[in-house]
Amino acid sequence: MPRDPRYDILFEPVRIGPVTAPNRFYQTPHATGFGWQRPQSGAALRGVKAEGGWGVVCTEYCSIHPSSDDSPYAFLTLWDDQDIAPLALTAEAIHAHGSLAGIELWHGGAHASNRMTRVPGIAPMTQPALYHLPATARAMDLSDIRTFRGWQRDAARRARQAGFDIVYVYAGHDYLPFQFLSRRTNQRSDAYGGSLENRVRLLREMIEDTKDAVGETCAVAVRLAVDELHGPEGITSDGEGREIIAMLAELPDLWDVNVAGALGNDSRSARFSGEGFQEENVAFVKSLTSKPVVSVGRFTSPDRMVSQIRRGVQDFIGAARPSIADPFLPAKIREGREDEIRECIGCNICRAANNEGVGLRCTQNPTMGEEWRRGWHPERIAVHPRRERALVIGGGPAGLEAALTLGRRGLEVALAEASDRFGGRLLREATLPGLQTWLRVRDWRLHMLGKLANVDLYPASRMTAADVAGFGADHVVLANGSHWRRDGVGVCATRPLDLPEALTPDDVFAGTPVAGPVVIYDDEHYFMGGALAEKLAVAGHEVQYVTTAAVASSWTVMTNEQDFLQARLIEAGVKLHPLKALISHDSGTATLACVYTGRTEALPCATLILTTGRLPDSALADELSSAGIAASRVGDCLAPSSIADAVYSAHRFARLLGEPDLPPRREMPPERSP
Ligand code: ADP
Ligand code: SF4
Repeated sequence: MPRDPRYDILFEPVRIGPVTAPNRFYQTPHATGFGWQRPQSGAALRGVKAEGGWGVVCTEYCSIHPSSDDSPYAFLTLWDDQDIAPLALTAEAIHAHGSLAGIELWHGGAHASNRMTRVPGIAPMTQPALYHLPATARAMDLSDIRTFRGWQRDAARRARQAGFDIVYVYAGHDYLPFQFLSRRTNQRSDAYGGSLENRVRLLREMIEDTKDAVGETCAVAVRLAVDELHGPEGITSDGEGREIIAMLAELPDLWDVNVAGALGNDSRSARFSGEGFQEENVAFVKSLTSKPVVSVGRFTSPDRMVSQIRRGVQDFIGAARPSIADPFLPAKIREGREDEIRECIGCNICRAANNEGVGLRCTQNPTMGEEWRRGWHPERIAVHPRRERALVIGGGPAGLEAALTLGRRGLEVALAEASDRFGGRLLREATLPGLQTWLRVRDWRLHMLGKLANVDLYPASRMTAADVAGFGADHVVLANGSHWRRDGVGVCATRPLDLPEALTPDDVFAGTPVAGPVVIYDDEHYFMGGALAEKLAVAGHEVQYVTTAAVASSWTVMTNEQDFLQARLIEAGVKLHPLKALISHDSGTATLACVYTGRTEALPCATLILTTGRLPDSALADELSSAGIAASRVGDCLAPSSIADAVYSAHRFARLLGEPDLPPRREMPPERSP
């Protein structure tokens, strides 16, 4: 299909200092969980992005010196010449598709843990080393600053040697150059503190140093947080953020601007921000500089992208998460296939991967992070050698993904869903506050299934073992889901409790009436307990939220949502009871026990809702097994988990059908010569 001319503007080349980007699609730096330890995995991932049409593809943060070590999280290093060859793999993988390779040079200052290197941290002022307590980051004197500038220059030269086209000066996310900019973290009284001119001095010098080192051949980009969302105490986009841009306007070759402070601010989940949410903070930048500007905002709509360019908000479409959910987003627009864009749902499972110290993963894109270790490609898949028949039972995330992937492999697929609507758990979960975008998991798959002549969809078709036997498929795939437990067994309680009056989220979604005071007992710790509490509180119920963890929906720390979420619950009037385990429930009273002391207390409770564990729906699997019919289980009916895990489980099954199930490749040290 030819490209829609409305989108031509997105494919214009843009000059960035001495280099030219082939189009306006700019994959801004984002973590992969691979870091210096897994260079081939990182290179393959970035190569797929370039293949998918991103005109600029950047690395994640790349430390310039051992005093900036983010262990145990994965980060890149340019500490000495040994780092050049592994990083060159990434630059080459990006160049292979005609894109520009950017590298985000980084020094974390007081935010570096230095757990691996054990070098004392450095900062504008003496302060606690935030991620390595009880250590202290020491104040940099003038000679430290001179030495630091040398590290940036050396790393820039090595980056150029590795083949990178765009070299970053990184003054965002509370890292060292930003710590110098902000009055909150810089109260020095020398030439690098006090007035804004003084606080900007180091950033100005770093830009000049980097240009001196590599500026003839490489573009020098500045990543700046123009608002740290700390109000007038910090950098704000209508105050010092604006003044900094005005002072340095023409110095770098490109401005990569965002809101920051903590990392969570610029990659807020869909629960806490919409597409283009940073515009109000970053839109001013272009009025103060003639240099190209890029920013992010979870852009997935080509029309909104065009609007960003036409209205002069930015010159590029910056994207991290949309490029993770669909590495081929630009190619799809280019080829007139924008209806096939797999839109990011804003769930931040990708952020969780980095926070948990593992390779990148994505709810929408099960191949993300698997490019090298399993050789999976988001757009290509091996056709199955035989045109066999597959029956997939259950049309939630797992069933939809299994049907789609088996269909792409050329099998004859029937997808049977008991309900008259496809979507499974998504139909329920997307009714929770801020989770409507999660329906994109269903919508994209249904849309793509509609293009496959070899897949038939059967809604309103609850399958029994007899139906399955009668169907006579070569492969039976069970994707019939899970249900919430009624017995209180969760992370904390390992033995069932007797809770005959308790409801589960399934009951609430099914419309069982709820009377206040409502007690939500969260011993699962992901989104469900907190989101239900918010929903019921907003609906006017008195809600008491009890959790065995120290904070609400504690695992959402990993998705960078927890602090936003807890604030929202407090604002909604939900009463929080952390570190309490449920003991019993009867006669309108829930009895709780302190998880440390066991001391009990009573809480008035007309309705108790348990978000504890989930159990696979295994009845059909058991019946099939008794009837001697082989079936494979995928998703929640195998092991209840996140939507991301359900999709991945189904994709993995479908991709490996007929293939050996080998362990993933690992990046090993070079073999010893005999
Ligand atoms: P997952 O996350 O693993 O995809 P879900 O709970 O979201 O699991 O989806 C399971 C789907 O399976 C639900 O839509 C449910 O209606 C459907 N289902 C359950 N039992 C049957 C059955 N016997 N026949 C057809 N569909 C079923
Ligand atoms: Fe988007 Fe979620 Fe994928 Fe991250 S994990 S890219 S937020 S869909």
